[in-house]
Amino acid sequence: MSVHVVETSDPAATEALGAQLAADLHDGDIVLVRGELGTGKTTLVRGAARALGVRDPVTSPSFSIGHRYRARGTYVSHLDLYRLGPLAHEEAELLSDYLGPGSIAFVEWPRESEPEFAGARLLVSLAHRGADRRRIKVERG
Ligand code: ADP
Ligand code: MG
Repeated sequence: MSVHVVETSDPAATEALGAQLAADLHDGDIVLVRGELGTGKTTLVRGAARALGVRDPVTSPSFSIGHRYRARGTYVSHLDLYRLGPLAHEEAELLSDYLGPGSIAFVEWPRESEPEFAGARLLVSLAHRGADRRRIKVERG
């Protein structure tokens, strides 16, 4: 387990960190992205998705639990579980459309209890540090 903490002072730096993290990701990997609203979770995922070859605009999923983007040799899944409470059985099954072989998945607001997320490759935690500063902790399991 390794822990790495950085501070960014603009969205571009957070995107760049996402891109840097993407370089170590492989097929089937899951990245959990935690932090309060507006800390830059989606911004970080956008940087990672770009680096993985996603060309479509990366936006917050709002009408479904996630988006799936074609990337270079894989799909990038971007889930946001904010609006979900503890996952009901059917919702947990929906997750399997986004996870596993053929995808690299980023999950905002993951639920602690989801067994699907137990083997996550990275846990990224973002926090506000005033104005445009963000503290970003990256834990590698
Ligand atoms: P979340 O997904 O955590 O709710 P978003 O990435 O959607 O957050 O939004 C973050 C907002 O904060 C954006 O408007 C972005 O431009 C702004 N912002 C300002 N400074 C930073 C920073 N250092 N890193 C990331 N986003 C930042
Ligand atoms: Mg978001």
